[in-house]
Amino acid sequence: MSTRLLHHGFGLNDQEYLKTEYKGGVVYFHIRTNEEKLQCSQCHSFNVIKKGTIERLFLTVPIGLKPVMLKAQIQRLECKDCGLVRQERIRFAEEKKATPEDSLDM
Ligand SMILES: [Zn+2]
Repeated sequence: MSTRLLHHGFGLNDQEYLKTEYKGGVVYFHIRTNEEKLQCSQCHSFNVIKKGTIERLFLTVPIGLKPVMLKAQIQRLECKDCGLVRQERIRFAEEKKATPEDSLDM
């Protein structure tokens, strides 16, 4: 597993790969958004200050028979443009909602 595979295999262009964890037959890829891609989810500004992280799990395509979860470090951000404190924009989650079947065609 590598950041390159995240990009090409899973279509996660803004994320970097941290590590892999195997637990209870499930594969967890730990990822986080690259610093320079952190973006306000409200106004899409990059003019943001980091305010701590939370973890969120996303189910993604399996590898063989193993279910794969993305364990994402989600950054809380204060936006210097619109003033909101919110979780970062998560582009891959937005795209998944729009086209749930697309990732199966790769
Ligand atoms: Zn904003």
